[in-house]
Amino acid sequence: MHIRTRFAPSPTGFIHLGNLRSALYPWAFARHNQGDFILRIEDTDLERSTQEAVDVIIEGMAWLGLDLDEGPIYQMQRIDRYREVVKQMLEAGLAYPCYMSEDELNKLRDQQMANKEKPRYNGLWRPEPGKILPPAPEGVLPVIRFKNPIGGSVIWNDAVKGKIEISNDELDDLVIARPDGTPTYNFCVVVDDLDMKITHVIRGDDHVNNTPRQINIMKALGGVPPVYAHLPTVLNDAGEKMSKRNGAMSVRDYQKAGYLPEAILNYLARLGWSHGDAEVFSKEQFVQWFDLDSLGRSPAQHNPEKLLWLNHQYIQNSDPMQLAELTKPFAYQLGIDTENGPDFVQVVSLLKDRANTLIEIAEGAKLFYSPAPEHNAEQIAQNIPAAIVPALKDLIHVLKVTDHNKEAYSAAFKQVLTQHQIKMPALAMPVRYALFATTQTPAIDSVLVVLGKDEAVNRLSKVIH
Ligand code: GLU
Repeated sequence: MHIRTRFAPSPTGFIHLGNLRSALYPWAFARHNQGDFILRIEDTDLERSTQEAVDVIIEGMAWLGLDLDEGPIYQMQRIDRYREVVKQMLEAGLAYPCYMSEDELNKLRDQQMANKEKPRYNGLWRPEPGKILPPAPEGVLPVIRFKNPIGGSVIWNDAVKGKIEISNDELDDLVIARPDGTPTYNFCVVVDDLDMKITHVIRGDDHVNNTPRQINIMKALGGVPPVYAHLPTVLNDAGEKMSKRNGAMSVRDYQKAGYLPEAILNYLARLGWSHGDAEVFSKEQFVQWFDLDSLGRSPAQHNPEKLLWLNHQYIQNSDPMQLAELTKPFAYQLGIDTENGPDFVQVVSLLKDRANTLIEIAEGAKLFYSPAPEHNAEQIAQNIPAAIVPALKDLIHVLKVTDHNKEAYSAAFKQVLTQHQIKMPALAMPVRYALFATTQTPAIDSVLVVLGKDEAVNRLSKVIH
């Protein structure tokens, strides 16, 4: 079987990470099986669909490297096709016009509720052999309803939830087209899944209730229902449904906050799927390992700390040259001119082991691209104890003649420490202060390599009193 999967987002409102997980799994399943992955934009809700949301989805997928074989296909461009299928169904007796007005439907519902029955359409306009239908009211445009099978049940083996059985008595005749002829949501999904030859529908479990209806329509159209895998929701870190209101971030926000797409992909992969106890893995490994059997059955919970930790892992293991390229835009935003100062790749190499995000690297880099500090006499007196000045003078002498590398600078410090019988912090703190007006810097020997010997000696000389 040639596997074909799809991601079918509705571009309404806010697109958070949990939404993109619904793209990642069908993508991985298609890639694992050398199948096809299709993006379908379900934009028939004209009032709620926005171009902005479409852009976020398409950009987010591209950023994560979820490549498409087909699409984006917009449902709004397929309206003629849906109308054509409605027409065929009417002709084949699989659907029928229903003239029951909103008012009548509401009355029916109230009655059923009063009788403690489940509200459902009563099949008044449903044609049956030998049944005489009321005369069609004049000037009223009907809805079109699907003739749902009567009796029996719909059964499917959900790849996540196991066997699900829904009695047909639970399902009334679904409206597939509105009075103005526009097709309804569940109907479009079926036509698309059939036309696109989708073999596996992997989607959020908020669609479980739609599935029996979709299967019935699909079968009526002569199609073979795909395999369904309904994914449990992703909850936020407080255990609530993810939404913008309770602090969910969009993919764009993560990009802006200095996350790497590899880290996000790895993180999303684990949000409802596992492979043994593997936590950090490449995209290739994920594709190689992905299967529907290992999907989790309970809701996944978003864990921002874990995501940050993963991002750190990816940053730490990144090639400094590539990382420098990725960090540059963040550095520019902080006003750093990377062309004017130490080699940026070297700066990034120095900072990457301690940074969780690209922003943190850029912030750390500021140190090396800011002008030499101007200390006044009082500041010097406060931060450079008079007793340490002889050691600083010696350090300057040793540095001048030492080689320009980390080991040599480290040895230079040790030599001065031994000579003056003092401990590292006693010397390193005043040195940091002299160089940068802060005592928070990475290891001092590495810092000297990046800053350069001449610059360091100049800055140190200015605080000798
Ligand atoms: N458009 C639906 C949604 O965004 C998904 C439909 C489907 O996957 O079948 O929730």
